[in-house]
Amino acid sequence: MRAVVLGAGVSGLACAVELAERGVAVEVLERGERLGAGCCSWYAGGMLAPWCERESTEPLVAALGAESLAWWPAKFPGTVLRGSLVVAHGRDAGELRQFARRTERYQWLESEGVGALEPDLAGRFSQALYFPEEGHLDPRAALTALAARLEGLGTTIRFGADAAACGERAIAAHAAGGAVIDCRGLEARDVLPDLRGVKGEMLLVKLPDVSLSRPVRVLHPRVPVYIVPRGDGHYMIGATMIESDQPTRITARSMLELLGAAYALHPAFGEAEIVEIGTGVRPAFPDNLPRVCRIGGTVYVNGLYRHGFLLAPALARHAAEQVLGADHSPEVMHEGSRQRRLA
Ligand SMILES: Cc1cc2nc3c(=O)[nH]c(=O)nc-3n(C[C@H](O)[C@H](O)[C@H](O)COP(=O)(O)OP(=O)(O)OC[C@H]3O[C@@H](n4cnc5c(N)ncnc54)[C@H](O)[C@@H]3O)c2cc1C
Repeated sequence: MRAVVLGAGVSGLACAVELAERGVAVEVLERGERLGAGCCSWYAGGMLAPWCERESTEPLVAALGAESLAWWPAKFPGTVLRGSLVVAHGRDAGELRQFARRTERYQWLESEGVGALEPDLAGRFSQALYFPEEGHLDPRAALTALAARLEGLGTTIRFGADAAACGERAIAAHAAGGAVIDCRGLEARDVLPDLRGVKGEMLLVKLPDVSLSRPVRVLHPRVPVYIVPRGDGHYMIGATMIESDQPTRITARSMLELLGAAYALHPAFGEAEIVEIGTGVRPAFPDNLPRVCRIGGTVYVNGLYRHGFLLAPALARHAAEQVLGADHSPEVMHEGSRQRRLA
């Protein structure tokens, strides 16, 4: 069987891997000239945090995310499974209690526990939530690893393949009895009109003086921020959530808020070198939940919102099973299906 995957973001690459490993001859068409160009996935934090995300989303996201946690280390050995930490300053202690009430699979830590996990945060927080089963990865390294894996499986990623070429190839693939999986993110609005963009701004900084070994979320009533270690003294600071589909440059307010939160986590961030400022636009449906659905013979994987790396493996499995006719839970994640049965 042959399949064409449209888009080489995290969803497209995960779908291509799942199909190629099942023996399908896959071709990936990507509009950008190189991996990451014009792709939301390039700017992600890379947190694999089903239970932290559960605080603000539906059980489906945590369930799919938990499934995906086992996939990443198998496909990308750089995946780090050291858990994640949620902290709040004294005046925001209520935020921490509220966060805990909305989720599960965490441990309460006192100040000593925080210092034992992250020595550079010793004495800075009297309480924290520790989610030991969570993980994180460097999204760019992970995408590169998936692309290399596809190459090893004989799959070609064609860069610079524009929409028109995609359409022609998709029609050809259909005509030849093959499958088309559309993972174009926000660009799929021509077929999925209720998709919207949620802009996210991020910073990459270098700060060799501070060592953190797991993502740390800093709760705040107005500006919750997280910091993800990228290794070699680099940290990703993210991320804003702005209802906009324009990948415009970061605003001064966002920059102040992100840096202010990092500085509040540890004043040494005031000395950090700003390496990169980035903006990505997350593809989201009105309910902020993902969908795998079939329209006119094409399978669409979309609406990964703020959980693309967390959800892509599980969604890719569903998509591959739909393509191969092995999905025995066809109602899973179809449009409008709130009463989902989890496979
Ligand atoms: C600042 C920020 C932080 C985030 N942090 C996290 C995090 O910590 N953990 C997490 O799990 N998620 C996170 N996310 C969310 C995650 O990045 C997204 O959910 C994910 O990137 C969506 O992936 P996608 O493959 O659907 O879309 P995209 O990554 O946008 O990929 C779509 C691809 O399709 C291509 N394309 C478009 N049109 C065409 C066409 N006509 N032909 C061919 N190709 C086309 C595009 O060029 C692009 O490469 C974050 C997002 C942002 C912005």
